[in-house]
Amino acid sequence: MRAERSDCVLGGSGHAPGPRFGTTVAEQGPGVPDLWADGMGVIVRRTVFYPGQDDGGLQCPHCGRLEQRDGSYTGPVPSQWRRFHSAAKGWMDGGPAEATCAYCGLPVALNEWQWESEPWAVGALGFTFWNCPPLLPAFVAEVGGRLGHPVRLVSGKF
Ligand SMILES: [Zn+2]
Repeated sequence: MRAERSDCVLGGSGHAPGPRFGTTVAEQGPGVPDLWADGMGVIVRRTVFYPGQDDGGLQCPHCGRLEQRDGSYTGPVPSQWRRFHSAAKGWMDGGPAEATCAYCGLPVALNEWQWESEPWAVGALGFTFWNCPPLLPAFVAEVGGRLGHPVRLVSGKF
């Protein structure tokens, strides 16, 4: 990504793809990185990162109980999901990063919940790659290595 910020992301400025962009993605489709919104946004605040579709199931890593959500956002919200959402909202407001399992009663760090589909993640630093092909796992691992902190890839479409 280029060091200087420019108008290349939605909702602000970001970092446009640099000359080595192709070494970070699995495949570079036509028009990428030539789209207007093809840059990387940087988020530096407590944020819940979610895939934006197909939430699938949420599973407690302690008891293994898997709870489905239909993804319609119009039906009743299962109890595990309510607890997770409430905890994530509380974390954004400065609270602890854990939710208690509705079934076994054990606390679970928000980033330790298991996801049936694309995972969610909470963090105080995030990078949004707009209109980007899938990132190479080696690139994601290198980012984590340079940060000296675990990273989680959250993929989705909005
Ligand atoms: Zn549990």
